[in-house]
Amino acid sequence: MKKRWHWEIKIPILTLVYFVIMIGSGMFKSCFFLFMIISFHEMCHCIAATLLKMKVEAITIYPFGMQANIQNLGFYSSFKELIVLIAGPMTHLINPFIFAFLLNLGVISPSMQSWLLNINKGMLIMNLLPIYPLDGGRIINEIIHLFFPYSISEKITYSLSFVNLIFLLFSKTMNDAAGFVVMMFIWFNLIKSMKDLSIVKRQFYRFRLNHENSNKKRIHSYNDLYKNSYNQFRDGSNLIEEKDWLLQQFHENSQQILQKNLNGML
Ligand SMILES: [Zn+2]
Repeated sequence: MKKRWHWEIKIPILTLVYFVIMIGSGMFKSCFFLFMIISFHEMCHCIAATLLKMKVEAITIYPFGMQANIQNLGFYSSFKELIVLIAGPMTHLINPFIFAFLLNLGVISPSMQSWLLNINKGMLIMNLLPIYPLDGGRIINEIIHLFFPYSISEKITYSLSFVNLIFLLFSKTMNDAAGFVVMMFIWFNLIKSMKDLSIVKRQFYRFRLNHENSNKKRIHSYNDLYKNSYNQFRDGSNLIEEKDWLLQQFHENSQQILQKNLNGML
């Protein structure tokens, strides 16, 4: 088996404590299926990513399910990323068949089946909300990247996500405790993504410098990369190749840092 299929799995001690409590409680079955729904979703993201030669950095097992960390997610071509992003929500379309099968086997009761169907439907809707960093928000982000340079695409995505999040807040569809926690989680991550944009952009540039890309050529004079193109920059009557432009960026950046340090010494 190739090495890329070796996924590192982390199990925090709190998860183990939770499992012991769960087994001892009467809610084992429902907690277990909840865990499986989320884990199946994450697992499909990981399988798609691995098949597309992306690296699954680590899978952490939380009490509510697995969470995967895919290296350089967001830096690959939108086509690849869309496959990985859609793979997760797709599982919620398969789950109803699994529940029906389990009902036939007598593993779950009809009331458990309808509870699971409700949870599954809720998760599908939530994951497809056009709010970053949910899958739906990331899908919109990839579509925006087809038309705009990197920074602008990210900024459009964040602005759109904020508007949608405010709509969601006022629609009162998530007005229970769980809904509040989810909203806070999204809010926190959205603000963090905005704050980290310039750092992540540098990481993206570094990624492009170290990876060959066979995308279609795009000649432009923006001071940024189009993610889904091989960029050529117009400079008067000259054309600057993507790699040269990137090297220039890193050179300018190190010059700026040096200048800053010198200024600080004065
Ligand atoms: Zn997902």
